Amino acid sequence: MPAVTVDDITNLPHIPLPDPLAAHERPVLSVTTAPHGVEGEGFPVRRAFAAADPRLLDPFVHMDQMGEVEYAPGEPKGTPWHPHRGFETVTYMIDGTFQHQDSVGGGGVITNGDTQWMTAGAGILHIERPPEALIASGGLFHGIQLWVNLPAVEKWVPPRYQDIRAGTVALLTSYDGGTLLRVIAGDVAGYHGPGITHTPISMAHATVSPGARLVLPWPREFNALVYALSGQGTVGSDARPLATGQLAVFGDGDVVTVAANAEQESRHPALDVLVLGGRPIREPVAWYGPFVMNTHAEIAQALSDYKAGKMGVVPADHIGV
Ligand code: MN
Repeated sequence: MPAVTVDDITNLPHIPLPDPLAAHERPVLSVTTAPHGVEGEGFPVRRAFAAADPRLLDPFVHMDQMGEVEYAPGEPKGTPWHPHRGFETVTYMIDGTFQHQDSVGGGGVITNGDTQWMTAGAGILHIERPPEALIASGGLFHGIQLWVNLPAVEKWVPPRYQDIRAGTVALLTSYDGGTLLRVIAGDVAGYHGPGITHTPISMAHATVSPGARLVLPWPREFNALVYALSGQGTVGSDARPLATGQLAVFGDGDVVTVAANAEQESRHPALDVLVLGGRPIREPVAWYGPFVMNTHAEIAQALSDYKAGKMGVVPADHIGV
């Protein structure tokens, strides 16, 4: 798992241990296992949130763990051109390469720890696929796509595209020096990630060494989710087991804890987790395919606007089909 790695994590800023008398550890409300699915032209995903209570996920709507998969030559797959409206997509590439192009001039290639942040807002067309060279060669492919909802007043903002390079994420370590924490967006323990969000969220990727423990201060007004990308460990004060493809949803409090088991499988020597939280929007959600709105009437409008070409046009120099 390359993402961003460093030679000596003990040189990074340490997150101080929260005062155990003042800080309230968040309880674990549920641990659910992501079902397997297939996305786009046929790439394998884990539907990270599919088994959890959607009310506890707010402001997040959906998350796919893309792969991890080792493609044969000619096998890598992406999506055709398709629309979105009403939310933001965050694509974090851990291993391999993904290419993006959209109808408002955004586009680029992300690899090994890079993130693309696309605010669909009022409407956009885009394509997401491996570049031609990777389709030819095959290879390792592993990433995340997270959907962050927008409140009603921001569903009609103009589309925006952010290209976040791996080298710009904030890197931290835990009090015990056993965790590499990459802050991609928002604020974690006073350190800011580069992603700019309409809906306030924090997003970090942690690699927890065998036997190490991550104790993270977490804003009370945010929800708290920990998703295991790979490895085995526990979450919360009562040490609920968490393993590859499982999501832990936390209750109220101001500290989130994750610990890696001392024994890990040899192909995944550490526990890798995404830690996510955001301020709940608390509005009705009408979600149909690539559109996330507040009402069914707005979904019907999105479908007719897309058919009428009001979400943009595929650029003349487009990639893919
Ligand atoms: Mn898309």
